Amino acid sequence: SINWALIGASNIAREFVIGAIRDNGGTVSWVMSSNAERARAYADANGIEKATTDLDALLADPAVDAVYISTTNELHRDQAIAAAKAGKHVLCEKPLALSLGDAHAMVAAGRAAGVVFATNHHLRNAGAHRAMRQAIKDGLIGRPLAARVFHAVYLPESLQGWRITNPSAGGGVVLDIAVHDADTLRFVLDDEPEAVAAITQGGGMASAGLADAVMTTVRFRSGLIAQTHDAFTAKFAGTGFEVHGTEGSLIARDVMTQRPIGEVVLRTAEGERSLDFDRTGLYVTALAAFHAAIAGEGRPAADGEDGIRSLAFGLAVLAAAETGRTVPVETGL
Ligand code: NDP
Repeated sequence: SINWALIGASNIAREFVIGAIRDNGGTVSWVMSSNAERARAYADANGIEKATTDLDALLADPAVDAVYISTTNELHRDQAIAAAKAGKHVLCEKPLALSLGDAHAMVAAGRAAGVVFATNHHLRNAGAHRAMRQAIKDGLIGRPLAARVFHAVYLPESLQGWRITNPSAGGGVVLDIAVHDADTLRFVLDDEPEAVAAITQGGGMASAGLADAVMTTVRFRSGLIAQTHDAFTAKFAGTGFEVHGTEGSLIARDVMTQRPIGEVVLRTAEGERSLDFDRTGLYVTALAAFHAAIAGEGRPAADGEDGIRSLAFGLAVLAAAETGRTVPVETGL
């Protein structure tokens, strides 16, 4: 069984990832927090044996196979590099880092250590997105020409912390949500974004100059164009993902979420039909692939390179919004 240590006593680990590890036969033996009391309380509440504030102590434990990094974004780089150097497999939250150079350094450290390195982009694990990708590969919509992503949500009060107040922690809607759109578009379309234009909004929730909403237009390598709308401020919008091709459209609703819900409709000259898809938990699927990759079977769902690519997209969106210009997506890969 794979033994995990959590770096970061986070909400996402508590809500989804601890359960996904255990559902895949793994164990969680450590949690690290910057605060000793919080670490202990979190460990007790989640059935975790050891709590620490000392990253080195956790990394020195030979029983630890893998770490899950879900601290705030400015901390991912050093923690991931230290973990890789200690020979631990790394599942890191998105955005991998705050700069492309840092993300490259993390992935390089993983490669040098020969460990599995993955980015926790959950949406490509959704049956809905997998069904859309397959439908496109099967030619059901002809040649894809455009995509539209509706990922404007309301940030729950319990999460209205660093995301809306702290630029140095990588707050703001672009690094939080737009990076997921990038990964999902890349996965569903099997295409790469080449350039973006974007306008951000401060709609009254975020402070310190951070955006709490953004609309982006994207050009892909194939010539496809896409638009994305991300927000922390949209209470009633609902989410969705559409791909429009020469012979048909895929119209998905409620699919930019953490749970295996929603529906996908194929609309063509023949009419409309719903696509069936697998409803396994997104994080459960991610952890299954990660455990298999440790065993030498296949790749993690989203690897380090995928994390570099989604970060490159986010940084291009920020630059485009800042300059008012169309900005190329430079990955350095
Ligand atoms: P949280 O705010 O829950 O946790 C981030 C850090 O904040 C923790 O490491 C913890 O620090 C500190 N913290 C959390 N709760 C408290 C509290 N009550 N009091 C004091 N400090 C607290 O963040 P999220 O779980 O929302 O996000 C963590 C990471 O995961 C980010 O990188 C984010 O982008 C990513 N994420 C990814 C998702 C996905 O689906 N892929 C979904 C949600 C988030 P310490 O560890 O020092 O105690």
